[in-house]
Amino acid sequence: MANVFYEKDADPNLIGARKVAVIGYGSQGHAHALNLKDSGVDVRVGLRDGSSSKAKAEAAGLRVTSIGQAASEADLIMILLPDTEQKSVYEAEIEPNLSDGDALFFAHGFNIRFGQIRPPAGVDVGMVAPKGPGHLVRREYEAGGGVPSLIAKDQDPSGKTMAMALSYANAIGATRAGVLQTTFEEETETDLFGEQVVLCGGIVELVKAGFQTLVDAGYQPESAYFECLHELKLIVDLMYEHGIQGMHFSISDTAEYGDYTRGPRIINDETRAEMRRILDEIQDGRFAEEWIAENQNGRPNFNEYRRKTADLQIEKVGSQLRSMMPWISAGNKGLEEASGGKGEK
Ligand code: NAD
Ligand code: MG
Repeated sequence: MANVFYEKDADPNLIGARKVAVIGYGSQGHAHALNLKDSGVDVRVGLRDGSSSKAKAEAAGLRVTSIGQAASEADLIMILLPDTEQKSVYEAEIEPNLSDGDALFFAHGFNIRFGQIRPPAGVDVGMVAPKGPGHLVRREYEAGGGVPSLIAKDQDPSGKTMAMALSYANAIGATRAGVLQTTFEEETETDLFGEQVVLCGGIVELVKAGFQTLVDAGYQPESAYFECLHELKLIVDLMYEHGIQGMHFSISDTAEYGDYTRGPRIINDETRAEMRRILDEIQDGRFAEEWIAENQNGRPNFNEYRRKTADLQIEKVGSQLRSMMPWISAGNKGLEEASGGKGEK
């Protein structure tokens, strides 16, 4: 088994001795900045001029400066901007303010793994990547818990990058849940693979195809929605809490038999071969190249995909049905407002 680190393994004095800059105040940024502050760390938030997050961060008791000012004051800089914005902001405002001995930290390895950001040799490069959205990183910390996180180092002139990453992870609450050591390669490649094949791409296509098959066969869309989307959460919660066998324990034997005999006809050798091809595109950089080019071109395909998704029948039916179940989304609305969320994108 891999080594998992907990609170007893971290030295809080390492991060306690640093001046930390959190760049960005979105999903991860607000959570890191507030947790660091509440853990007694000297933290400032670097935001672009005119940022609508400035008032929110200040109201939460944080000191806000320009990105350049934060990077120049700090000796540990955590970049929590969208991955596609990091290279240009880094080159314009962070790189000119780096000195030997500084540490540059990330919450995802994309820009280092695919060579978009190339920090100077005298700077430590580390990662603290929470395995959950920012609002949970904040909410769990406030409740006395934490979100499991990955730590890694890319370059390590001080020889202390990994210990510093663990100390940072401790200050945001991650060591309460468990911190796993990884590499920039493993974190980036498994993260992209997971979101493309299972968590986002795989599951959304599965839900859409199941819904459409039932609707095309003449069943009520409401019934198809409850079956293929709503109930998914109940099943996933069971797997999350008790594993696959625990989920099987709670469902009927009929459902369990259907799982064993029909599941492998949906995820078959052809699907597995395609998964492997998707992993190849991640590993050899083709996916990164495609996504970087899409952004440089102003995201024409991305915006079209978003528009098409908004037009789906499952989205219209779901939105109506959920409006009758206000408790389902009530919690998250408040959280999105508190964090600045994705609104600014
Ligand atoms: P986000 O989109 O929620 O927030 C980014 C922040 O950067 C916002 O405050 C936004 O206003 C600001 N910003 C956007 N463009 C900017 C620009 N050009 N100049 C200056 N500021 C700009 O981002 P996020 O989801 O918190 O992601 C931050 C990092 O954390 C990424 O590396 C991401 O991969 C990683 N991460 C995210 C999650 C998650 O669940 N959201 C989980 C783990 C790791
Ligand atoms: Mg992820």
